[in-house]
Amino acid sequence: MRTPESELDELEASGLRRQLRRIDSPQGARVALADGSVLLNFSSNDYLGLANHPLNRASFIANIEAFGTGAGASRLVCGSQSPHHQLEEKLAAFKNTESALTFSTGFATATGVIPALCGKEDIVILDKLCHASLIDGARLSGATMRVFPHNDLEKLSSHLSWAEGRIAKDGRILVITESVFSMDGDRAPLQGICDLITPSPALLLVDEAHAFGYIGPEGRGLAAELGLEDQINLQMGTFSKAAGLSGGYICGSRNMIDFLINKARSFIYSTAPAPSLAATISDCLDLIAGDEGAALRSALWSNIQSFNTDATSAIIPLIIGDNEATLAASQTLHECGYLVPAIRYPTVSKGTARLRVTLSANHLPEQIKGLKEALTSLY
Ligand SMILES: *Cc1c(COP(=O)(O)O)cnc(C)c1O
Repeated sequence: MRTPESELDELEASGLRRQLRRIDSPQGARVALADGSVLLNFSSNDYLGLANHPLNRASFIANIEAFGTGAGASRLVCGSQSPHHQLEEKLAAFKNTESALTFSTGFATATGVIPALCGKEDIVILDKLCHASLIDGARLSGATMRVFPHNDLEKLSSHLSWAEGRIAKDGRILVITESVFSMDGDRAPLQGICDLITPSPALLLVDEAHAFGYIGPEGRGLAAELGLEDQINLQMGTFSKAAGLSGGYICGSRNMIDFLINKARSFIYSTAPAPSLAATISDCLDLIAGDEGAALRSALWSNIQSFNTDATSAIIPLIIGDNEATLAASQTLHECGYLVPAIRYPTVSKGTARLRVTLSANHLPEQIKGLKEALTSLY
């Protein structure tokens, strides 16, 4: 029988072994490593710098005083506390949908929602670069899966025609994409995708994990920026990135949400997020939509522009290709005081290992300038 050791050895030999890097400080533009060194942090998805923001902290502390630390059980079992309802009402308004449902993480949202909607008789069509949680949700559903090359509308269109010809009378076709892609930082052609799907019976799920909070009016996402909320059946996202907290959400019609409350197993069979967390996310939505959010977005976008004028998100990949070379580049940056992760297979496809730079509203202009110089001296 194969052992964990032998599999670890194989990972090590191909430059694919992963290790946790222990950090002894809160998240922020600077992080303190366990060995005492302090690095400038270009690795987190804390785009607005809210993970340790005074307003988020104060709100969380006050909400713990008001609501305690635990939810007790699933919301269907021990009662559904008001902070969850208030959050979902506020979120639905923010996302311009009838209704919303929250989960403990974005990962749990995907693995709950997709198998609730689709089964063996159904078809799920995904972009090739969709996040692991969306792929796992689709696999778990047992539906037939079709993958289209990244952002390829023509291939999506031909998969759709194929699916429409094959699907049973009451079968479902579900198309899944992200609005901003997590490892490439580019945007989906959402208008083109909606144009293909509107005349078709297929449902569309768009994961806004990396757009929520800093793209679109008030940070409401790419669907809001393009005015496509009405054409997207399910808008998904997470509070773990730009909101600096944790938790996942899905927004849609009232019937869709009532259906998910009855069918999404990661909602039904998992303890609800702490009510104090739900209340803090509500406060954070006000923060994001308000003046402080606007100021943070403006700082973030100015940082993005100063790093790369072509960038359309806070994620900027520098593709190197080889695993070892990417690890070496990340290590050299570490020695210069920068935390920039090496992203390798299976997070990205083989031969496309990369440094993934993520920018935050917290970064100072001189810190970004320093990173650019360090990167230039690498090559
Ligand atoms: C991070 C991420 C998720 C998972 O969200 P968590 O709240 O971190 O579990 C889902 N989809 C995408 C595209 C993501 O980048």
